[in-house]
Amino acid sequence: MARVAAIVNQKGGVGKSTTAINLGAYLAQRGERVLLIDMDPQANATSGLGIGSNGELAGCMYDVLLDGRPLEEIIVSTAVERLHIAPASIQLVGAEVELVSSLARELKLRRALEKLPEGRYERILVDCPPSLDLLTLNALAAADEVLIPVQCEYYALEGLTQLMRSIRMVREELNPGLEIGGVLLTMFDARTNLSRQVAEEVRSFFGGRVFKTVIPRSVRLSEAPSHGMPVSLYAPSSSGAEAYAAVAGEVLGGD
Ligand code: ADP
Ligand code: MG
Repeated sequence: MARVAAIVNQKGGVGKSTTAINLGAYLAQRGERVLLIDMDPQANATSGLGIGSNGELAGCMYDVLLDGRPLEEIIVSTAVERLHIAPASIQLVGAEVELVSSLARELKLRRALEKLPEGRYERILVDCPPSLDLLTLNALAAADEVLIPVQCEYYALEGLTQLMRSIRMVREELNPGLEIGGVLLTMFDARTNLSRQVAEEVRSFFGGRVFKTVIPRSVRLSEAPSHGMPVSLYAPSSSGAEAYAAVAGEVLGGD
């Protein structure tokens, strides 16, 4: 079975989609067959990989979650070999409301993943919207582990208590095996005390579950999506690229 990681933080702008795209790309470049599932109506992971801009999509996650369409029918390949994506579109905005009245509404993604042909993917990354809504709950219910990007900024820890509470609730009600896979410090600015303070606080809160690698603030990382490329293709020798490559190494147990 593929290992499924939900990339979650109910705060927006902390680096979830950036992590989904770039971790996915490096895991694929290291040889894993990776599926990125875009659960965010904003579709940043989809557009950031250059997918869906000219309306060529056969479908999106809305069709899978609401119409029971097989994931396979909507998956598309990307510019990175072995990295595929199940795209989102703005249609997903409606999914949250429409799911409320459906049976086993938290389990739609899990059921869809169960129907994927055995062995097709080794790693599945789920990029979540910036809230703890039904779309995120679907991701948590389907996941083996949670990856939590935390921005090295004011109020970084705010909301993490609530997130941990949601994870506990999901363990009790839906998915007892759900683990904290790792906490990733993002947008670290070595020049500021603030970044260092936040990093320290997060490490004392989460201990060994924090990735050793810290993602620096990097202009290349923020430019890459507008070129529809992961940073591994757009600026492979930039500091941001090296950091995400190192995170992929940690995920693969390489150090
Ligand atoms: P989220 O998915 O959590 O909302 P994003 O990954 O979309 O967050 O990141 C928010 C914004 O910050 C985006 O414009 C993205 O390009 C930018 N960004 C993310 N990580 C970095 C980084 N390490 N350095 C600079 N900009 C970043
Ligand atoms: Mg996002």
